[in-house]
Amino acid sequence: RAKSRQRGGHFYFSRGMGVEIRERVRLMHALRSGFARGELFLAYQPQVELGAHRPFGAEALLRWRTEDGRLVPPDRFIPIAEYSGLIIEIGEWVLRQACAELMRLRAAGYLDFTMSVNVSQVQFRHPGFLDMLRGALADTGAPPERVELEITESMAMEEPDLLIERLAAIKRTGVSIAIDDFGTGFSSLSYLQRLQVDRLKIDRTFVTEITGSARGSSIAEMVIELGRNLGLSIIAEGVEDERQAQILQALGCPLAQGFLFSRPLAPEALLEWLGQDALTRAA
Ligand code: C2E
Ligand code: MG
Ligand code: MG
Ligand code: MG
Repeated sequence: RAKSRQRGGHFYFSRGMGVEIRERVRLMHALRSGFARGELFLAYQPQVELGAHRPFGAEALLRWRTEDGRLVPPDRFIPIAEYSGLIIEIGEWVLRQACAELMRLRAAGYLDFTMSVNVSQVQFRHPGFLDMLRGALADTGAPPERVELEITESMAMEEPDLLIERLAAIKRTGVSIAIDDFGTGFSSLSYLQRLQVDRLKIDRTFVTEITGSARGSSIAEMVIELGRNLGLSIIAEGVEDERQAQILQALGCPLAQGFLFSRPLAPEALLEWLGQDALTRAA
């Protein structure tokens, strides 16, 4: 791994780190121009009710296909968008795009459909966040009660007062809030109780563990129980096989998302999936 050493107040970077920094700077420029050229797009992963497999919503997931046709994973470019500040613009674009897609789905008759949008902590802390949110809802006409914002649990750990106040203000717009990757951040229960959130998303790692060992389901169980006690909705993410789905359902988890049901889809494919799914259930 790259190391840095401090000598006389200056940082000297090892060769490895120089390469990493140069690569990041390169990606940052590529992302900025790629965003301007329209290389970013959203994929939508259906979210379903576990028992009926009935779809009730989708999560919007950001994708970047570079000029040479390469797909850069969000885990790689979102941190770069965050530290360069680009995430403010990109995040607004994502929200507007997702709201516009929600409106197309509504026009196609899916009036109960909910759209979930990931929000980075950099966006969330930005002073213009609430105005941006209100503007996106107003301009697209998306009904706030059909829009959900996903924040990560690690975000919930820092600056508790700012977070509590921000969440309350977001709630007043009518939008709902989910805590993403729940269970990975060790937030305290008393703190969680003070947050105005609507839903916990059980992190994929705990879903994967469910079938692994005798105690594998304990964290998922605990989150489901916690949700019940706090009156929060629960969704499991990263459900890949039927056994996981069965166990989750038996544990009382009502909602799920994962490759078992569908991969993230392009808008046309989502519409098709929703249509076919309705046919399957009617049959
Ligand atoms: P996340 O919000 O926790 O999203 C879930 C990730 O799990 C997605 O990866 C999704 O494609 C993947 N996934 C869904 N079902 C399964 C499954 O059954 N098995 C496995 N192995 N994976 C599954 P993706 O799209 O690569 O996104 C990674 C992360 O990037 C997201 O995690 C989120 O933190 C971030 N991200 C994506 N889009 C946005 C965005 O628009 N804004 C922000 N701020 N972050 C985003
Ligand atoms: Mg998410
Ligand atoms: Mg997640
Ligand atoms: Mg994640």
